[in-house]
Amino acid sequence: MLTTGPVPAYPEVLAALGKPVLYDYHPAFQTYYAGVVEKLRQALRTDNNPVIMQGEAILGIEAAAAALIARNDVVLNLVSGVYGKGFASWAARYGREVVELAVPYDEIIDPQAVREALRSRPDISIVSLCHHDTPSGTLNPLHEIGAVVAGHGAYLIVDAVSSFAGMDAHPQDAHADIFITSPSKCLGSTPGLSLIAVSERAWNKIEANPDAPLGSFLSLLAWKGASEPGRPFPVTPSIAEIYALDAALDRYTREGPENVWTRHAQTASVAREGLLGLGLSLWPKQEAWCAPTATAFKVPDSISDVALRDSLLHDHGILVSLGRGETAGKILRIGHMGASAEPGFARTIVSALSGILSRPLHP
Ligand SMILES: *Cc1c(COP(=O)(O)O)cnc(C)c1O
Repeated sequence: MLTTGPVPAYPEVLAALGKPVLYDYHPAFQTYYAGVVEKLRQALRTDNNPVIMQGEAILGIEAAAAALIARNDVVLNLVSGVYGKGFASWAARYGREVVELAVPYDEIIDPQAVREALRSRPDISIVSLCHHDTPSGTLNPLHEIGAVVAGHGAYLIVDAVSSFAGMDAHPQDAHADIFITSPSKCLGSTPGLSLIAVSERAWNKIEANPDAPLGSFLSLLAWKGASEPGRPFPVTPSIAEIYALDAALDRYTREGPENVWTRHAQTASVAREGLLGLGLSLWPKQEAWCAPTATAFKVPDSISDVALRDSLLHDHGILVSLGRGETAGKILRIGHMGASAEPGFARTIVSALSGILSRPLHP
């Protein structure tokens, strides 16, 4: 399964899912939960406790918008793909105005363009960025954009769902005020949770926002401090998913984050080299813009995307992802996330593609 999320879970993650369910008010569970939050804090390299919400990462992204964006906010939404574009609907729901800075989906956002957008609209108070827009396989310059936004003083919301834990991407280094990720991409755990780092100043803004949801499944505030001992959870946590996350975080730490990132980068590099060697083209206009956690390549004219995907699956047992939105029909995407980030897997799919595409009448 070389998909772009969800991805195959590590064996220790699957084993953890089989542990007995603890009562959430049991002091032992509360202590355990606080330990998992602490491990997550260390993995995210933040000073304050992150929040775990009980739903796939889109929940975390929508909850971030609902909490941080107040009625008088002007949001600069950076769009280089499907997920970046999708954020606009939430920003528009909560804020006063959404300003869009968009590039074609085979390009990346230029930090200089962000600087100019902020200069021409000094009233922009929040900037939102999707770091790796997975349907395009392109990686935006997170740290450079973060520095520009910090210079302006705006808050920065980052969707790092498909980059965190597959490369060096952490909220504080990037000046991100809210940084959302998922266990089911590069951490190699199961889907079902949103992992959210929130800066101190973002918490202050959220607490001052009269429209920030409370008593709602969308409430980020409800989960603030949920790991403090003796505090009731807003709703029953997804206990098995917490076990799985814990095992994934342990594995990440044991292997060593830098080693994990290198494994992802090497796999992507092998995939790109192999695809180019077959005469295929990468979807991103420049190879330097390709993400280390997924490789998007153009489907040749001689075959449809679905036929090529099906041939990989049925003849070779390899499942990849189709394009989405604007990239649908044009590309296939190979995920290098968690357990699938192994250079050997990249070599395997390249040789499978070579076999399929060299047949006179493929598939
Ligand atoms: C996977 C992903 C998400 C989360 O999408 P779900 O449908 O909730 O899994 C958000 N943003 C990006 C960039 C992603 O790759």
